[in-house]
Amino acid sequence: MIDSSLKSKIEFILVEPSHPGNIGASARAIKNMGFKNLSLVQPKDFPNDDAYYRAKGAKDILDDAKIYSDLSNALEDSTLIFGTSARARTIPWPTKNSSELTSVLKTGLQSNNAKISFVFGREISGLSNEELQMCDYHIKIPTDEEFSSINLSHAVQIISYVIKMELQNNDYVSELTSESTTFQDNEYLIDHFDKVMKTIDFYDQENPKQVRTRIRRLVKRLQPDKLETGILRGFLAKIEQVLNKKN
Ligand code: SAH
Repeated sequence: MIDSSLKSKIEFILVEPSHPGNIGASARAIKNMGFKNLSLVQPKDFPNDDAYYRAKGAKDILDDAKIYSDLSNALEDSTLIFGTSARARTIPWPTKNSSELTSVLKTGLQSNNAKISFVFGREISGLSNEELQMCDYHIKIPTDEEFSSINLSHAVQIISYVIKMELQNNDYVSELTSESTTFQDNEYLIDHFDKVMKTIDFYDQENPKQVRTRIRRLVKRLQPDKLETGILRGFLAKIEQVLNKKN
């Protein structure tokens, strides 16, 4: 398979960017590295002249940018999601640094419906915990510990460069394997777990102790395939069926 078709399976998502200049500079950064898919979640000010000015020769990337009202809509058919963050968060998530992406990226690109998303946060506050928990992996770009927050478009530049080098240096498979589960499939599974747990009073809803978040992290870490997800959903549906018969 040729490099450009691999690149088209990769997208960059900016969540609520406030400076149009950063949107333009990000478009330029991804086009410089040969990528083209840019999505924006509730940009504060877009389309905007400054964004177009900063994009230079990457105006087509801005013209084609997809706009979403929230991150979960943007991620619906993503099969592998990386959230970028300068800081560690409350519930630690599987984390890679920017030079450890190879094996995950390689596996992710093997499925025939691969859509790999790299998510970037707001200039002021980054990504919320909820948004970071929608991701399969977190990426921290190694920086000086004392000053770790990189400008948004610079972070996009570094990540797009790293992926380009990964794709170039590795022997990416030409044979596509099975279909991957999507973000939406995983959400249905997590919701189903939560629903059954609530039905059987598995946890105290007044004091949930992050049970749902931990189930979410488990699903993200294991990345069950379509068949396994089907078995788990079937198992949960059977429990519901048995409970309904009893009542
Ligand atoms: N003040 C925010 C940083 C926002 S920088 C915070 O502390 O979270 C804007 C975005 O650039 C971040 O949300 C992240 O997507 C990316 N970014 C900045 N520095 C980064 C780093 N060291 N590693 C990975 N992503 C980074």
